[in-house]
Amino acid sequence: MRKPFVAGNWKMNKTVEQARVLVSEMLPGLQAVKAVERVLCPPFTSLMAIAAMLSGTDIGLGAQNMHWETAGAFTGEIAPAMVKEFCQYVILGHSERRTYFGETDETVNRKVRAALAHGLTPIVCIGETLAENEAGRTAEVVSRQIEQGLKDLTPEQASGLVIAYEPVWAIGTGRAASGEDANRVVGDVIRPTLAKMFGNTVAEGVRVLYGGSVTAANAAEFFTQPQIDGALVGGASLKAAEFVKIVEAAA
Ligand code: PEP
Repeated sequence: MRKPFVAGNWKMNKTVEQARVLVSEMLPGLQAVKAVERVLCPPFTSLMAIAAMLSGTDIGLGAQNMHWETAGAFTGEIAPAMVKEFCQYVILGHSERRTYFGETDETVNRKVRAALAHGLTPIVCIGETLAENEAGRTAEVVSRQIEQGLKDLTPEQASGLVIAYEPVWAIGTGRAASGEDANRVVGDVIRPTLAKMFGNTVAEGVRVLYGGSVTAANAAEFFTQPQIDGALVGGASLKAAEFVKIVEAAA
């Protein structure tokens, strides 16, 4: 039985003060939904303040990115141990990182291995672009991202991952995939690829989320699909009442 999982990716939004206000608005609603693993991923600058607000709750905190090296001359980067001071999770390989900051399957793999080595749970993002989708290449792209992004992991390490299937054309566009299509990619491509690499038990146990224009209005369409275990939510996670409704829909 896979516990439902909903994470909010705030992207590059909210000052510390604004982040505090948003969390105080959503906290009571989120705390009431124990059946769902709930995770907030604010920008780095707010992690310390939000960690303090979430302390003593069962709501997790995640970073949106991380470097794979432990320390050194990497100006502007954040090391795994720095993330681990505040967080239990880290989003890795988000399509915005791949598109705008040159992340590749190889760098995602380095980050995934570094996160696991530091006791963080990676939320690994995969998904095809519109051109790849229209060219019928979804299965090829998504399976390659898994094979290369999760290369050299042990089955035990892989069993602790969370994967977010986020078709790039659905992120921030208001044009979500259909629940059935997303379910098919997870059931026919993602879990079989995981099974080939790590065995059936791991493939059936890993939580796979859908991400891409999830709202309170369409969340149930995804959460009622048998292969989908929750959502990575961008824009709608910045609205307290709407994010709480999405979490409630996952319960
Ligand atoms: C995301 O940032 O991972 C995302 C899915 O964004 P949005 O929900 O805004 O499409």
